[in-house]
Amino acid sequence: MSAGVSTQQRQREMAAAVAAAAATSGAGRCRLSKIGASRRPPPARVRVAVRLRPFVDGTAGASNPPCVRGMDSCSLEIANWRNHQETLKYQFDAFYGERSTQQDIYAGSVQPILRHLLEGQNASVLAYGPTGAGKTHTMLGSPEQPGVIPRALMDLLQLTREEGAEGRPWALCVTMSYLEIYQEKVLDLLDSTSGDLVIREDCRGNILIPGLTQKPITSFADFERHFLPASRNRTVGATRLNQRSSRSHAVLLVKVDQRERLAPFRQREGKLYLIDLAGSEDNRRTGNKGLRLKESGAINASLFVLGKVVDALNQGLPRVPYRDSKLTRLLQDSLGGSAHSILIANIAPERHFYLDTVSALNFAARTKEVINRPFTNESLQPHVLGPVKLSQKELLGPPEAKKARGPEEEEIGSAEPMAASASASQKLSPLQKLSSMDPAMLERLLSLDRLLASQGSQGAPLLSTPKRERMVLMKTVEEKDLEIERLKMKQKELEAKVLAQKAEDSKEKENHCPTILRPLLHRTVTVAKPLKKAVVMPLQLIQEQAASPNAEIHILKNKGRKRKVESLDAPEPEEKAEDCWELQISPELLAHGRQKILDLLNEGSARDLRSLQRIGPKKAQLIVGWRQLHGPFSQVEDLERVEGITGKQMESFLKANILGLAAGQRCGPS
Ligand code: ADP
Ligand code: MG
Repeated sequence: MSAGVSTQQRQREMAAAVAAAAATSGAGRCRLSKIGASRRPPPARVRVAVRLRPFVDGTAGASNPPCVRGMDSCSLEIANWRNHQETLKYQFDAFYGERSTQQDIYAGSVQPILRHLLEGQNASVLAYGPTGAGKTHTMLGSPEQPGVIPRALMDLLQLTREEGAEGRPWALCVTMSYLEIYQEKVLDLLDSTSGDLVIREDCRGNILIPGLTQKPITSFADFERHFLPASRNRTVGATRLNQRSSRSHAVLLVKVDQRERLAPFRQREGKLYLIDLAGSEDNRRTGNKGLRLKESGAINASLFVLGKVVDALNQGLPRVPYRDSKLTRLLQDSLGGSAHSILIANIAPERHFYLDTVSALNFAARTKEVINRPFTNESLQPHVLGPVKLSQKELLGPPEAKKARGPEEEEIGSAEPMAASASASQKLSPLQKLSSMDPAMLERLLSLDRLLASQGSQGAPLLSTPKRERMVLMKTVEEKDLEIERLKMKQKELEAKVLAQKAEDSKEKENHCPTILRPLLHRTVTVAKPLKKAVVMPLQLIQEQAASPNAEIHILKNKGRKRKVESLDAPEPEEKAEDCWELQISPELLAHGRQKILDLLNEGSARDLRSLQRIGPKKAQLIVGWRQLHGPFSQVEDLERVEGITGKQMESFLKANILGLAAGQRCGPS
């Protein structure tokens, strides 16, 4: 393939786009290193462009008018099949009509997002649409009309050469991978012998394909050397609509790795996905049978999941079904993820494409609402962390701390080639600015250093920093340690105070109600729903009872009781035996308790009466008044005759007071 476009002109445009971006974003790199370090990354909506291809095979004419037409550079209209008098109008970020060139689409929609790769951010370009609508033409093109892929690669390689030249602050390295998803299998197109590859996600949500071939490329010739034979590996087949219909989703992945040449030796990684999706197919029209029908089923299924993912993102559903297909799993970065994404929806003007066109436009309109949050993938270079034989996880401390630090730190243990090249024997550069390091990591390195020194290690210190800076640092860490110690002491003091206060409170409460509350004082208080029938006794009291078999009080008894339980699955409610605890007091104690209550009712003052459970000042007054009018109570139940005390209240009054008096008798003088 040869890119038959003016290289110089494109380079100029590219440079202008980068300069414009830097101008609008402040000083490009500085601004980006801030992103993700503290705040949530700013949102970037998925951009959507629609490209209408011309009639192919000269089928246009008065007898075959187009079913769709452009209105301006952003909108188009299509006949409404429900009402022929009307048209449906759609608005997108860009609309490219039949006459638009490959350069128009590239310069208008793709080139502007490439600059993000040099900022360590991800970008994706997806070609979507029905089979035969021009997706492959848009992405790949032909030698005469090269598409998005060759143009983007040419510009990107030129840009990385310039940015990574000797004397510039960053060294750059570009690698490519090429894969296809065919019938839910991920196949490496750069290694035809590889089988189905797995898609994984690292702890920061990055999508990875372990084992996928990565070829370093430094020139467009390099790219063509790998890409052209790999494209021939792509699964294609003939359908009635398209002689070389793509039967798989093809994904070209271009990675731009950057390493800072000077301190603080940062590392950035930007990924570009260029995706030529297989088209959705109406099998009645394509005439698919056998294998073609099976392929088509897989293609349609993954595109259906793609639609579900877009809908879930738009509706803010808690579960986005990325994992329901390999395609959506791979696109997790691009839709609702961390990439600057652009979807190019390809449509055809022929009337027999009408329904496919409407459905592609509807999908494109829904995708327009998806919000991504691109952030900068930045970390320290692996060799900076090399000498410490701890994993990145240990270095970063607890997971929360890591989360809080944001997603810009790259995982060291990943299978990426640059990370793998980290030499464990390399030391920190003396130029390393300690102030730019994560303080937690710094502290760990320092303490490791101290540990090594105390064990008599003769090797160079882990932090080979100038002596003065090192001393200052040690002092700061020591001060911090002291501060932590001081805070710990203070915390202990406060805890002791709280405990003493609690003990005092408990004493007071014991004096007030010695029998019932004492065992509860040392237990955690939890709020539970009150049970209707069961009376819950403190566990210690039950244990005491069990420990004294001669005791005449048996307060608790385990009873099998049946209860109706309703289940969603069972048509009828089931009866289930349940354990219930109920009071059982010996008859003597019961009689004793009743007598005591009766004595109180007849002789107690209003104040004495208030010591009874459920008797407040009002009821105490009523009882005293009744007694003065009618004379003494002959039995406890006479209380029902006092105005304002109902039979129901009597029942609970008796239970509560007899229990209280009985327990009081056991535990001490009442
Ligand atoms: P898809 O990949 O969507 O199935 P293709 O890209 O293979 O479709 O396009 C189908 C046919 O239409 C091809 O012959 C292609 O050359 C032609 N075609 C598509 N888009 C254009 C366009 N913009 N200008 C000219 N021909 C086009
Ligand atoms: Mg195609």
